[in-house]
Amino acid sequence: MVYFIGAGPGDPELITVKGKRAIEEADIIIYAGSLVNPQVLAGRKPEAMIYNSASMTLPEVIAVMQSGTKEGKQIARVHTGDPSIYGAIREQMRELERLEIGYEVIPGVSSFLAAAAAVKREYTLPGVSQTVILTRMEGRTPVPDKEKIQKLAVHQAAMVIFLSVGQIEELCRQLQEGGYGADTPAAVVYKASWEEEKIVRGTLEDLARKVHEAGICKTALVMVGEFLGDCFEFSRLYDENFSHGYRRAENGRE
Ligand code: SAH
Repeated sequence: MVYFIGAGPGDPELITVKGKRAIEEADIIIYAGSLVNPQVLAGRKPEAMIYNSASMTLPEVIAVMQSGTKEGKQIARVHTGDPSIYGAIREQMRELERLEIGYEVIPGVSSFLAAAAAVKREYTLPGVSQTVILTRMEGRTPVPDKEKIQKLAVHQAAMVIFLSVGQIEELCRQLQEGGYGADTPAAVVYKASWEEEKIVRGTLEDLARKVHEAGICKTALVMVGEFLGDCFEFSRLYDENFSHGYRRAENGRE
């Protein structure tokens, strides 16, 4: 059996109980060495074999899984954050299906969630935005034309941009071209939940300069939207005049 495990954003306590157990029980561990905190592997069996997928190709990863499962070994394939976000997990799952190797996916805390926790903000603020866009800029790998930053920016939703801090000037320019005002609050979180975590706050106008000053050029998320600001309405969920399935309003209004 192969377990795809979301290792969480970095803090070794931000892996799920289930993911931790799968690592503890694994005979073979294949982890994304560039981003997974090695401390999440601390509870592994002393005899567990470890592979760093950073230097491996897809066929090499699959070959390790295939020979391991043939010998009845349990395999932990450890991805950063949650594997469903830029995890390149689909191609691995397809190969396993082709080879009739059983697998399961154990979700993890994605870095975009750790980043919201770091800046102490909520993405979905009533009266501000009820939508979160997770995306990345075009770089060495393309992005479908319909999803260009300018097109997504039209919505002025809460937006989190992965894998793009290295192009921060161009990103801020495209976000403004698409519709966000120059004074829209924006932030960069570097290594959310790690000891080295850094937060840079600003607006679309000055964020790029501040990010350069902080020396951040990778392993960071760019967040943009009025959700980072201080104007919003209170949620109906806890409104004393609003009833719902789990609570009747004091004055009986539904
Ligand atoms: N599956 C991962 C994302 C992998 S793509 C997840 O769910 O988080 C790698 C990109 O994710 C990095 O370039 C960076 O943009 C972002 N990233 C991953 N971990 C991060 C962290 N702890 N803090 C900030 N950004 C992070």
